[in-house]
This record gives sequence, C-alpha cells and structure tokens, in this order.
Amino acid sequence: MTLSLNCKDAGDPVCTHTMYGETEGELLQNAKKHGIEVHGYTEQSWNEEIAKNTDHFRKLIKSS
Ligand SMILES: [Zn+2]
Repeated sequence: MTLSLNCKDAGDPVCTHTMYGETEGELLQNAKKHGIEVHGYTEQSWNEEIAKNTDHFRKLIKSS
C-alpha cells in the first residue's frame, strides 16, 4: 500500500507535486523535505504547521 498526498490538495494554489510514502511517518517526512526545499519552510515552521493541521493533513492522505 502506498500513501500519497498532493500539494495542491493540501492548499497550495500552484504546486501539484505529489509526495509518497509507505507509512504515514514516511509520507510526512517526504512532505517535510518538499516543504523545506520548495516552499521555504524551516524545520521549526514546518513542525508548527503540522502540529496545527494534523487532522487536516490526515484527511488528505490517499492510499492505493
Ligand atoms: Zn509543493
């Protein structure tokens, strides 16, 4: 089973990058890497964002 999360679904108006992971933890790790590299997050601001929106992100994760 592969989990995926699309940046656009997560609320970004232009980025359509899709992140994948075998587990939720791996997916969030990949999303964090993408957020830092592409969207200008820092480790700290990303962690704060996730902490505030964990439920929101969970609902956006698709499994296939
Ligand atoms: Zn993105």
